[in-house]
Amino acid sequence: MKNDITIAQEARLEPIENIAQSIGVEKDDLELYGKYKAKFADSIWDKVEKKENGKLVLVTAINPTPAGEGKTTTTVGLGQALGKLNKRSMIALREPSLGPCMGIKGGAAGGGYAQVVPMEDINLHFTGDIHAVTSAHNLVSATLDNHLQQGNDLNIDTRQIVWKRAMDMNDRALRNIVVGLGGRMQGVPREDHFIISVASEIMAILCLAEDIYDLKARLEKAIIAYTYEKKPVTIKDLNITGALTVLLKDAIKPNLVQTLEHTPAIMHGGPFANIAHGCNSMRATKLALKLSDIVVTEAGFGADLGAEKFLDIKCRQGNLKPDAIVLVATIRALKYNGGIKKESLSEENLEALQQGIVNLEKHIENMQKYQVPIIVTLNQFVSDTEKEIHYVKSYCESLGCEFALSNVWAKGGEGGIELANKVLYALEKKESNFKLLYPNEATIKEKIKTVATEIYGAKAVEYSQKAEKTIEQIKALNLETLPVCIAKNQYSLSDNKDLLGRPKDFTIHVREMYVSAGAGFIVVVTGDLMTMPGLPKKPAAENIDINEEGKIIGLS
Ligand code: ADP
Ligand code: MG
Repeated sequence: MKNDITIAQEARLEPIENIAQSIGVEKDDLELYGKYKAKFADSIWDKVEKKENGKLVLVTAINPTPAGEGKTTTTVGLGQALGKLNKRSMIALREPSLGPCMGIKGGAAGGGYAQVVPMEDINLHFTGDIHAVTSAHNLVSATLDNHLQQGNDLNIDTRQIVWKRAMDMNDRALRNIVVGLGGRMQGVPREDHFIISVASEIMAILCLAEDIYDLKARLEKAIIAYTYEKKPVTIKDLNITGALTVLLKDAIKPNLVQTLEHTPAIMHGGPFANIAHGCNSMRATKLALKLSDIVVTEAGFGADLGAEKFLDIKCRQGNLKPDAIVLVATIRALKYNGGIKKESLSEENLEALQQGIVNLEKHIENMQKYQVPIIVTLNQFVSDTEKEIHYVKSYCESLGCEFALSNVWAKGGEGGIELANKVLYALEKKESNFKLLYPNEATIKEKIKTVATEIYGAKAVEYSQKAEKTIEQIKALNLETLPVCIAKNQYSLSDNKDLLGRPKDFTIHVREMYVSAGAGFIVVVTGDLMTMPGLPKKPAAENIDINEEGKIIGLS
């Protein structure tokens, strides 16, 4: 089959005004970024305010292989398939980060015949939202260091600065640095760090804000450091909340693009799915719900991380109620969970499949806890055999779970008709009684324990001394009612990436915790945490070029 970029470049795109028109949006309510990208102007909000909300469908997955299991591909393909069935549907996705695009992972606009276009733009600078986040983030850093230089009236303890610098690039050499070297006029020397822009709290804030004023109110609260008296210092104390809000005035407007089959797609915001909640912006989801009858959206990583955060953080804060959950599985990932190495995943292996399918079982049980109808979909790869497919299908049916084979990667919307019909059936015939996993009033430890035992399947949670101290600090700050955002490796349900399948009797180790007070959650770190990825030996960037015809090649 052709590679992703070739398929994307061969597509005939509709002018973005036409896509907008298909969902009843006038050109006046768009801000065009060239022919095929637009932002929704603020004028749209008054016009849709009284409309009823459409149905919300979440796409999530089992624990993945390092290659990704096709959640974005399935989201896009399902949107395309619903279009083929003449449903007014939209998809709502995260926008890709440039760093990973140049590193190992490649882009994040779907794959095969289920893609969002123009894929080159989307994967590169798009409409500049992430750059705006980077600028806003670094204005905080610059102002903070200037404050130290100008006499440190706030009495900031330079050993307790928690705000790092940010850049949208995978650059491991910047993980730990020293700034302010060079003498009296060059700043106050101190240890500093870089994170990738999408790990910035500003990205999480942008993605959870209801509007620009809520954005401003949240920015003010973000904690950047502590004083020598251990009191938190916030962005408000630097007097730059207004400037930050202004820097983000366009970034908060959702972006409209299209799929290969002209389904309207909103791509907006892209927070990490470990130290943040990992889904597209609140505004994008809410606007899509007003503009269409069915919205298909994706949460990052596996359901233990992405879906749990989508449900317990985003739905909690935004009062959203999902109507169905699509759980993506692949035979490759099931075999991987059954202990097979990456290199051998293409060979038929029913035994490994049987071993690994307990991972799917656990995710089905987990999603059932939220009382939302579930559809399992098998994202078909060419290497899957009839026997393997049959096994997974029978397994799901034996659990009484809806199942659909999906082949949107190879066939586009046509390959997702079975899935779309199952989703429509769930939306029409099954009731969603969505319920959060834990109440706001639960203590921090109760919240963590609930996620660890109910979702991960752990038997206990252990806290480092440092984490215990932070819990006391959070109580003193009166922030105990916030939901928890647990950062954990994505490969295992446990905090040890080698425990695949459905591990039992394990302990979750909480290493450290901190508050993202603006985003409105408590970050709970288990295991090692990477907020600035590195590049592999041969970065994807080495394949990217522009040819004699002016075409971009090698982007994947
Ligand atoms: P996720 O959103 O779960 O990270 P993606 O949808 O981005 O996964 O897919 C990851 C990669 O796998 C992409 O390069 C995509 O083209 C590829 N892919 C997805 N589904 C299939 C499939 N059925 N067959 C082959 N490749 C696929
Ligand atoms: Mg994805």
